Amino acid sequence: MGDAIRPDWSGRLNRTWQRAAASSLAAGPAAVRAAVVISTPTNLNYLCGFRGSAGLMVLTSGEHYLLIDGRYDFAARSEQDAGRLGPVAIRRVEGRFDQALADLLGELPAGDVAFESEFVTVAVLTKWQAGSPTRTWVPTSELVEDLRVVKDAHELAIIRRACARLADVAKHLREFVAGGLTERQVAGSIDAAILRAGFSATAFPTIVASGPNSAHPHARPSDRKLRDGDLVVLDFGGVLDGYCGDLTRMAAVGQVQANARALVDAVRLAQDAALATVRAGVLASDVDQAARDVLSRHGLGEAFLHATGHGLGLDLHESPRIGRADAVRPIKLEAGTVCTIEPGAYVDGLGGARMEDDVVVTAEGCEVLTDAPRDLLIV
Ligand code: ZN
Ligand code: ZN
Repeated sequence: MGDAIRPDWSGRLNRTWQRAAASSLAAGPAAVRAAVVISTPTNLNYLCGFRGSAGLMVLTSGEHYLLIDGRYDFAARSEQDAGRLGPVAIRRVEGRFDQALADLLGELPAGDVAFESEFVTVAVLTKWQAGSPTRTWVPTSELVEDLRVVKDAHELAIIRRACARLADVAKHLREFVAGGLTERQVAGSIDAAILRAGFSATAFPTIVASGPNSAHPHARPSDRKLRDGDLVVLDFGGVLDGYCGDLTRMAAVGQVQANARALVDAVRLAQDAALATVRAGVLASDVDQAARDVLSRHGLGEAFLHATGHGLGLDLHESPRIGRADAVRPIKLEAGTVCTIEPGAYVDGLGGARMEDDVVVTAEGCEVLTDAPRDLLIV
C-alpha cells in the first residue's frame, strides 16, 4: 500500500460517534450519550487501524480512546508516530480491561454508554455494568457495520487490487486442476498461487469439491481423486492489506453428462440475471430473486441452497446479505457497496455448480472486479 494514502480514520470515527449520538436522541429528549464502546476486532481495525487481538475503543464527544494491553502498547505508539494508526488517545491497560474501562468512564460526564450488542457477551457486559453501576448501558446493532457497507476510495483501491490479483489466479486454474489429482492437492496448488500473487493469507479454506462432493456447497477438500465426468467447484479467496477477495469457477474433468453441463449453464444464466439487476437503489432481495427466477425456470429452484451473495470487505462475509426477501432485512444497494454474486445449484447424484464474482455497485449497474473467464474449464 502506498504510504501517502491513509484511510480516513477521522471521518470514520466522527460518523460512528454521530450515529451513536443520534441513536440516543431516539431514546428520548433527556437521553445523553456519554460514550460508545467498540470491541469488535474488525471494527477497531476499520476505525483506527488497530489489528491486535485484544483492545477496546471508547468514543466520546471529545476524545476517542484506544485501550490496549502491554503487548500492543509500544507497537501501537510507534505505528501512530508513523501515521499508521488513527487519531486516538492510547491508554495502556495494566490490569483488567473492565477495570480500565470503568476508570475511563468515571472521568466522563453523565450520560449513557452504548455498546455493540452483537459482539459483547452477557458475561462481559455484566462486568462492565458492575464497574459503572450508575450508567445506563444501551445496546446498538450494526453501528459500525452499516458504515462499512459503502466503501471509500481508499478501500476500493485495495479491493480492486485484491480482486484483480484473484482473477489472475483464476486465469491459471488450468495448471492446477487435472484428473488423478486429489481435491486436497488441487486446493494446495491454489493456496500456493494465492500466496505467490502477494496475498497475506487465503481468505478461507479453499473449496475444491469434485463429483458427488460438488453437490455440497461447503464441502472441504478430501483425498478423493478427480476423475472423468466430474464437475469441480473451485472457490477461493485471498486477503490483501486486510481486505478479502472471493471467487468461484467451475471445472469439468473430460466429458460431463449433458444434464451436468445444463446445470452449469443454468447457474451461469442465473448469475448473469443477478448481475444485470444490481444497481444503486435496488433491493438486495430483488437481485437474489433474479437469480432464483432463472434457476426455477430450469427446474432448479429447490437446488439453490444459499443466498445469492454477501458484502465483502475487511470481513469475508459482511453486510449486505443478498438473500431472499423473507430472510434478509429490506436493504437497498448503495453505490460503492462491494458484494459477491454467487448463485449455485446442488443436485445429489448429479453434482453442483456455483459461479462467483465480486462487484462494486454503481448508479448505473455494477462493475465486475474479478475479471476472469467464466467458461466451464474443461481439463
Ligand atoms: Zn467464495
Ligand atoms: Zn462468497
